[in-house]
Amino acid sequence: MIVGIDLGTTNSLVAYFTEEGPKIIPNRLGKHLTPSVVSVDKEGNVYVGETARERMSLYPESVAMAFKRSMGTERTYDLCGHRFKPEELSSMVLRALKEDAENFLGEEVTEAVISVPAYFDDKRRKATKRAGELAGLKVERMISEPTAAAVAYGLYDKTRDTRFLVFDLGGGTFDVSVLELYHNILEVRAVAGDNYLGGEDFTEVMAKLFLHKSGLQLQNLSEKEQVRLYRQAEKAKCAISDNEKVTMSFLYREETMEEQITYKEYEEACEELLMKIREPVKKSLSDAGLKLSDIDEVLLIGGATRLSIVRDFLIRLFRKFPDTKLNPDETVALGAAVQAAMKERRAEVKEVILTDVCSFTLGTEIVVEYEEGKFEDGRFCPIIERNTVIPASHTERLYTARDNQEKVRVRVLQGESRFARNNLYLGELEIPVPPGPKGKEAVDVTYTYDINSLLEVEVKVVSTGLSQKLIIKGQDNEMTDEEIAKRMEELAYLKIQPRDYEENRLVLLRAERMYEESLGERRKKLDFYITAFETALKKGKHEEIETAREELNEMLEQEDE
Ligand code: AMP
Repeated sequence: MIVGIDLGTTNSLVAYFTEEGPKIIPNRLGKHLTPSVVSVDKEGNVYVGETARERMSLYPESVAMAFKRSMGTERTYDLCGHRFKPEELSSMVLRALKEDAENFLGEEVTEAVISVPAYFDDKRRKATKRAGELAGLKVERMISEPTAAAVAYGLYDKTRDTRFLVFDLGGGTFDVSVLELYHNILEVRAVAGDNYLGGEDFTEVMAKLFLHKSGLQLQNLSEKEQVRLYRQAEKAKCAISDNEKVTMSFLYREETMEEQITYKEYEEACEELLMKIREPVKKSLSDAGLKLSDIDEVLLIGGATRLSIVRDFLIRLFRKFPDTKLNPDETVALGAAVQAAMKERRAEVKEVILTDVCSFTLGTEIVVEYEEGKFEDGRFCPIIERNTVIPASHTERLYTARDNQEKVRVRVLQGESRFARNNLYLGELEIPVPPGPKGKEAVDVTYTYDINSLLEVEVKVVSTGLSQKLIIKGQDNEMTDEEIAKRMEELAYLKIQPRDYEENRLVLLRAERMYEESLGERRKKLDFYITAFETALKKGKHEEIETAREELNEMLEQEDE
């Protein structure tokens, strides 16, 4: 079975394809969303999802979150003395999802289609693929998140020709895509985005507003207090959409501080973020050669599109109401499952034809002769341009720049700047050419970009026919199959917590956190129920444990407001 996985910044989901269409697979706690949070304790136990997130306020040094933002970079995370790369943390999330899917489906899951932000460059995509491999999943296909969303959408409504704008504001990333559904062919016309903008920024605005009103300073708060502040800010942010004002409370030292925040105040404070949102919308439309009014439907995905502030802004911008019939959290995973079904060539999905675009320009460095005998080097020559439909293959003929040049060096670069130095270096290739006067010898440089956004570069000397190929290797974070196998073994000693204990552990963690946040009577009451639950756990009688857990859970639900 091939599953579809939405590996999100904040939450991840796994879905599969059934005769009735794509469906989300519930995780071990019976929920659709698994927070993309990992915690590793000193003993090497791994906690993934809600349990890991709960550990944040009690053991912040053992928890990593939002690591998707660092995918493909050299950043490492230290969790209780264990060091991890972002893709290794992602692999733990994937491992948990794989286990949940296997348990639910009753069969082994060995392959997945994983979604990535359209704006992810080659390095980030490769890191995502490695994360899959480290989790024991073959990842032949990656699908860009907005494309996946449109696929999920297209399946439900595929009779009309439509121009969509998919607006995806997740926890930490923002993507805009312009797509066209025409005679059952879904084509991505353009993508744009911002890798550093998302719902968390809106949470931060709320937190800052609270600090400003209450006169507190962030730097005076302990790490635990900061975690609590953000948790409260997140709650207030989610609540403000349905209210004219919200009351945000926060336990500082021994004192509960409360501040009222109005919708209007919050909207004003978010003005700068809304301006940032406008840019990629404009860019994607102009790349697609369209105007705002050409868009028939606006689709919202990503949890942060639930914010009324964002919705109101879009209504003003497009002068139409966005389509919200699909659950914004689930659409991408459902689309990835449809893509998985396409890969399996299932009969139910074969009519949907899908194209994608590359989201950045790929090119090489050249020397330009701007006046007879005057050269400027370090210029960028685009070969496959941003928003070209993929798979794509383009060839550019380049000539020798100096007399008796012995070899041609092709540096493979990615980016939009006119200057090579400002673009991302992906690799390089050198090929000998017969010496001669400048401009006599030529090489054909062919870039082939496949549907998984992996790049192959071929350089061929026109006169000799000699050719060389390069499958792009990221400079330093590329891993061979053996290295992956070795790292998998190293990571195998880290055990994801057994499923059965997960719920008990989660309830206890939540209770402990609330105990720390409470005072007086509430604290005593919590202590009573926690002790009862712990006693039941020690006795080990299944029914008693269930009852005590339910009682404690009920109390937590009531109190965790
Ligand atoms: P995602 O990465 O798509 O799961 O989006 C997660 C982001 O959506 C987080 O920043 C959440 O705070 C935000 N979010 C989820 N639900 C809501 C809501 N009801 N109102 C506002 N933001 C929300």
